Amino acid sequence: MPPTQQKDYYGALGVKKTATPEEIRKAFRKLARKYHPDVNPGDKKSEEKFKEISEANDILSDEKKRKIYDQFGFYSDQIDPAAAEAAARQGAGRGGQGVPIDFGGFDFSDFASGAGAPQQEASSGAGWGGFRDIFSGIFSQGERQQQGPQPGTDLEYQVNVDFWTAIRGGTTRLQIQKQEICPTCKGKASTGGAHTCPECHGSGQVTQMGGRMKFNIQCPRCGGSGKVQNACPTCHGQGTVHRTESLEFRIKPGTRDGQRIRLAGKGNAGTHNGPAGDLYLIIRTGSHPVFTRQGDDIHITAPISVTEAALGAKIEVPTIDGRAQLKIPPGTQSGQKLRMRERGVPSATRDGARGDQIVTVEIVVPQVRDERSKEILREFAKLNSEDPREQMWAKV
Ligand SMILES: [Zn+2]
Ligand SMILES: [Zn+2]
Repeated sequence: MPPTQQKDYYGALGVKKTATPEEIRKAFRKLARKYHPDVNPGDKKSEEKFKEISEANDILSDEKKRKIYDQFGFYSDQIDPAAAEAAARQGAGRGGQGVPIDFGGFDFSDFASGAGAPQQEASSGAGWGGFRDIFSGIFSQGERQQQGPQPGTDLEYQVNVDFWTAIRGGTTRLQIQKQEICPTCKGKASTGGAHTCPECHGSGQVTQMGGRMKFNIQCPRCGGSGKVQNACPTCHGQGTVHRTESLEFRIKPGTRDGQRIRLAGKGNAGTHNGPAGDLYLIIRTGSHPVFTRQGDDIHITAPISVTEAALGAKIEVPTIDGRAQLKIPPGTQSGQKLRMRERGVPSATRDGARGDQIVTVEIVVPQVRDERSKEILREFAKLNSEDPREQMWAKV
């Protein structure tokens, strides 16, 4: 039984043993961007490296798994995190050897070598009792399968939707890259019948080094069954394949910029019958040369003449439903905002509700060229001699 290798997960990610979860996350992201199979298609070395850093990240980003790894120098699902903590509290692992329990220098390698452990247990008699007790604390007794169902991860995509589609609703298409259940093996990851596990040669157990100590654990390759199946040639034993999917989905009328749409079960496929992840779409709405959208309100700037502003008027302005009348009150100033109630965007969340249109008035001063108009304005000035800067001077 070859001992399973100890792996340097910290080295794989290039972080210190004291790295914070944030540092681990950052290191993994950086490396993942470099070695991702999508970035290096067909590059076996990158693929191996990606697997290595993924495994390291899987262990180190999980507080419980990391604790076990730190304590024993390897990780196994069969080790109870509580036992690892207990071992740590007992001061085991002093001197950085990662020895979980002080066995007084005893070399247990005799017990672990040779054929399956059950026969040794019978032949060694009473002495095994205490030994087993210690181990039952380290390893949980459950028959947890290494290859259990793993849920698929969530996906997030940004979707650009044009101004009008976001307001009126419609359908839009999107190409997404995702993991799907392998069509060859239907997600089982294997094809054909079972054969003897090459890792444990059918015994279902392998010897694991823990510092000076050796002990048997369930074979991680076959999950203790002693048998393995041929990896599916299509998905290389992953149970999932990379696919580009063209997706069509509905945009609700009134969809806002930045809105998140969740499509349950449309994310990456799970492995070994695990559930699929979700797909999240972040909506980015387009702009318009005249209308500016803020939530469900529409803002526009409308130019008006000096006389319209001074005398008041009924003018026409564009709305998202077409032309509409707007009353300009007499004495309207430039920059003043006029509200047109319920002329904005119909709400996507509140039935029947809609936003307002806010019109910012901009007074356009006429270019006076003819003498008659100048005369009238001079006369006008005589009749209206108040100083528009009076208020300003009063405050200086
Ligand atoms: Zn095996
Ligand atoms: Zn397959």
